[in-house]
Amino acid sequence: MDSSQPPTTQDPLQAETRLVTAGRDTKAQKGFVNPPVFHGSTVLYPTAADLHAHRGEFQYGRHGTPTTRALQEVLVALEGPQCAGVGLAPSGLAAISTALLAVAKAGDHVLVCDNAYRPTRNFCNGLLARYGVETTYFDPLIGAGIAALFKPNTRAVLVEAPGSQSFEMPDIPAIAAVAHARGALVIDDNTWATPLYHRSLEQGVDISVQAGTKYIGGHSDIMFGTISANANAWPIVAENVRLLGVCAGPDDVYLALRGMRTLSVRLAQHHRSGLEMARWLQQRPEVQRVLHPALENDPGHAIWKRDFTGASGLFSIVLQPKPQRAVDAMLDSLKLFGMGFSWGGFESLAIPFDCSAYRTATAWAPGGPTLRLHIGLENIEDLKADLDCGFAVFNAA
Ligand SMILES: *Cc1c(COP(=O)(O)O)cnc(C)c1O
Repeated sequence: MDSSQPPTTQDPLQAETRLVTAGRDTKAQKGFVNPPVFHGSTVLYPTAADLHAHRGEFQYGRHGTPTTRALQEVLVALEGPQCAGVGLAPSGLAAISTALLAVAKAGDHVLVCDNAYRPTRNFCNGLLARYGVETTYFDPLIGAGIAALFKPNTRAVLVEAPGSQSFEMPDIPAIAAVAHARGALVIDDNTWATPLYHRSLEQGVDISVQAGTKYIGGHSDIMFGTISANANAWPIVAENVRLLGVCAGPDDVYLALRGMRTLSVRLAQHHRSGLEMARWLQQRPEVQRVLHPALENDPGHAIWKRDFTGASGLFSIVLQPKPQRAVDAMLDSLKLFGMGFSWGGFESLAIPFDCSAYRTATAWAPGGPTLRLHIGLENIEDLKADLDCGFAVFNAA
């Protein structure tokens, strides 16, 4: 098959099939299923005329290789017909900063959800502020009420669905309707659901960003980011990617492409195991609350059901009040849940968090210690047994 052309709006294939078929050009690869990892900076031009005209399929390593093109084709195919192009970045944070720098200039104002990934806030409070861009944080549950926060110079709204650590669900279509009426663009950090479970560009988002480090890579072995944009935003995103010199390393690009091929089966299992664990935790006396939008009694459930087709394996729990040493003793006792930043790999993780120090538009007072869990691909009964032992330590401490 030859799918060197990006899929069109008429593409009748389902997302799982597109993840497997897009970006493949068997003939160009001498029959092999996968493209090689192109390590390259210099591209040689056959004649001076070609050089003067910048003629040729590829011009320079930073601007793309056959490996990056294959990955971009899969990403475009997954995002859907609204997607006009995808920029590749060396990390998720670089994808976010590139998107924000593309939309805002000195004297502008941006609106950012209060539950955004903390380094996103640090970028806004640090570099954007230094370059004369003002940030206002908003309650992620504000919905159409966001209209009151707009200023004449508001250029962009950044949302994350669900937000980092606390998993509140914003109403993206409602926020996007207001933003577009005011001439602002909407950026969505779509890392949690990926475009497989949340087609954000079809819900009014102009620029959809992912930390490909997480589920796209899927094996905790790469740093990578993606910046997808609709036809309205792609020209400024593409220009900014070029101006900043943003690109991803060849091995990480290859591993991201490899990860895309199995994304649907991995995410389906993360969804299943994550939800089963969330329900099991709801029944535990040590747990006050489970923050997971796919649970029927979660405040964000109606929006999740309307806008998402699945959930990933990441959610949080609020424990019964106990001193931190009880939580630490529990964490130290776990054998299958590792402690560490990032998530989206095959392995389960547990990490304590506290948003109270940095949220500014909302108050974070969960009423007990909080843990963020990533449910990996281990057997779910083994994972429950690990937590069961952990809770015994928690209770005894
Ligand atoms: C991890 C993460 C990022 C940043 O990704 P890196 O690849 O670590 O830079 C951005 N947004 C969210 C929601 C994340 O969880």
